[in-house]
Amino acid sequence: MKLSRQFTVFGSAIFCVVIFSLYLMLDRVQHDPTRHQNGGNFPRSQISVLQNRIEQLEQLLEENHEIISHIKDSVLELTANAEGPPALLPYYTANGSWVVPPEPRPSFFSISPQDCQFALGGRGQKPELQMLTISEELPFDNVDGGVWKQGFDISYGPHDWDAEDLQVFVVPHSHNDPGWIKTFDKYYTEQTQHILNSMVGKLQEDPRRRFLWAEVSFFAKWWDNINAQKKAAVRRLVGNGQLEIVTGGWVMPDEANSHYFALIDQLIEGHQWLERNLGATPRSGWAVDPFGYSSTIPYLLRRANLTSMLIQRVHYAIKKHFAATHSLEFMWRQTWDSDANTDIFCHMMPFYSYDVPHTCGPDPKICCQFDFKRLPGGRINCPWKVPPRAITEANVAERAALLLDQYRKKSRLFRSNVLLVPLGDDFRYDKPQEWDAQFFNYQRLFDFLNSKPDLHVQAQFGTLSDYFDALYKKTGVEPGARPPGFPVLSGDFFSYADREDHYWTGYYTSRPFYKSLDRVLEAHLRGAEILYSLATAHARRSGLASQYPLSDFALLTEARRTLGLFQHHDAITGTAKEAVVADYGIRLLRSLVSLKQVIINAAHYLVLGDKETYRFEPEAPFLQMDDTRLNHDALPERTVIQLDSSPRYVVLFNPLDQERFSVVSLLVSSPRVRVLSEDGQPLAVQISAHWSSATNTVTDVYQVSVPI
Ligand SMILES: [Zn+2]
Repeated sequence: MKLSRQFTVFGSAIFCVVIFSLYLMLDRVQHDPTRHQNGGNFPRSQISVLQNRIEQLEQLLEENHEIISHIKDSVLELTANAEGPPALLPYYTANGSWVVPPEPRPSFFSISPQDCQFALGGRGQKPELQMLTISEELPFDNVDGGVWKQGFDISYGPHDWDAEDLQVFVVPHSHNDPGWIKTFDKYYTEQTQHILNSMVGKLQEDPRRRFLWAEVSFFAKWWDNINAQKKAAVRRLVGNGQLEIVTGGWVMPDEANSHYFALIDQLIEGHQWLERNLGATPRSGWAVDPFGYSSTIPYLLRRANLTSMLIQRVHYAIKKHFAATHSLEFMWRQTWDSDANTDIFCHMMPFYSYDVPHTCGPDPKICCQFDFKRLPGGRINCPWKVPPRAITEANVAERAALLLDQYRKKSRLFRSNVLLVPLGDDFRYDKPQEWDAQFFNYQRLFDFLNSKPDLHVQAQFGTLSDYFDALYKKTGVEPGARPPGFPVLSGDFFSYADREDHYWTGYYTSRPFYKSLDRVLEAHLRGAEILYSLATAHARRSGLASQYPLSDFALLTEARRTLGLFQHHDAITGTAKEAVVADYGIRLLRSLVSLKQVIINAAHYLVLGDKETYRFEPEAPFLQMDDTRLNHDALPERTVIQLDSSPRYVVLFNPLDQERFSVVSLLVSSPRVRVLSEDGQPLAVQISAHWSSATNTVTDVYQVSVPI
């Protein structure tokens, strides 16, 4: 009953505010001095302004009616639910302790519909593409599509590009997993550093060349190992647009298992690194390998000021449907964002993979012939049994025609005449010869195509943002804005299948131990960041900074990077090899130990009444944490508090931004224990046996549980 009164008062208050706003608006319309400058005769333009205002007021009134009716509904609902005694909650007394009311019962909070008005649709346009609906309606029948096995035949007319040339951007890229078959360090040593080293030289050889890089974790490691001259060259390449850093996260994260805290953290870590070292700000997202796509990432990317993004591993049946309906490029909208403030433009790659055979067009047998790393004599070849041929004067016309046919077919799946053709694969461009083979042969093809106006094609190397910029220009919109006619989509792209019934869903639960350790590290990182910030801020203000281990900041950074690394789509997913998993585990544990150190140091400083007495003594820590892990794959062992006649102190820290009431359990060496509150009041406790297995208790260890 009390609640219903509150809602009535709240409803009336909203009503009054709305009416008062209406009055003010009308008042402004009437008293605006500019409106009287013509002696009361409104010019036509101002009359239309007035009409618009009146329409807005009408709309506001209508919405107001809606809000009031929602409030009425809530009041009715609450009145119906409020029969019987009200739920009792624990409360905090003046002497500083929590009291649990007798006979506590669960309490429920009803969410008012107006609090969730975004969910009701709002004023914005409803997305045409709702992934839930599409998934329900698609037959998932996997019909053989011919050369494009998971698609269909694509045809085009001989004059389709007469009015507007096809503009092709071939985007060289190298996908570097920060751990998968090999560990992060092994990949770096054996492949990644060579890729990045060759990149600097090869891009400088010809200003028309372009390259894409995504994983800042590798880039940062490489950066620490190169000289100033090379760093300057890299900054020039970024500055002149030859090298684009896409997404800019510490890794290309998994999107199914990661917590959003860690996703944001690794994005910030990467972006800050880029800003500090390269002065670069990523504009476009590139996620070719995560096994399905969450709707949270487009939101985070948009909030990080990216305007466009690309995805690849989407269920083949959805790709086919989107290709057939020209929906592979869309504005990705949050289901709750009816005002479309967080929309981001998204490109979905149409074919099976991001490798070269599946990116130039629908026929992998043809496209493979344009992967010049597979030239005869090399270590890899084309599984379709037709090898690539180096481009020469003699064959360029025939080769260019064959490739252009693929480009044109692929282009028919999209709405604009700008075409994106990625050119790369996992750990590509690790040898100078590969750079030469791809760049020289493609440049010959481009030169030929561009020299024949009747072909109506302009082909060049480009970065991802070069492609998006050209698309926005051609469609006449600002970067990131919705090109006319392009669809709007809401939802996500789980679950992923790449072929037949090969669903990539096992990784949602595989290696659960490390998925759990990820969350443990994440929670400790958050706690450590808060305590370190509070402690150092106080120490600096009090002139005690020289006493405090400010170097703990390095431990925080390292832990943040470890957590970031583990968000990689072969780390938290559990899809890496055993030795790589162990490597991640060791890193996670090392960072966890470091964070505990940071927490101990900061908590020590903060709990001291007289901060002047603070001394940093790592050999004799003032506090101990409540558990320890002996190994990266061992369960935590809880600390047993040894009791004697002198009191022991327990410091509890709640890193959340709200008060919590919970039962805290501690292990003690004796059942003869009293727990006192901060001000010396005895607290109600429960003593339990401590079990080592389902049937055995541990002698001399007891669990004491205290409501705090
Ligand atoms: Zn990968």
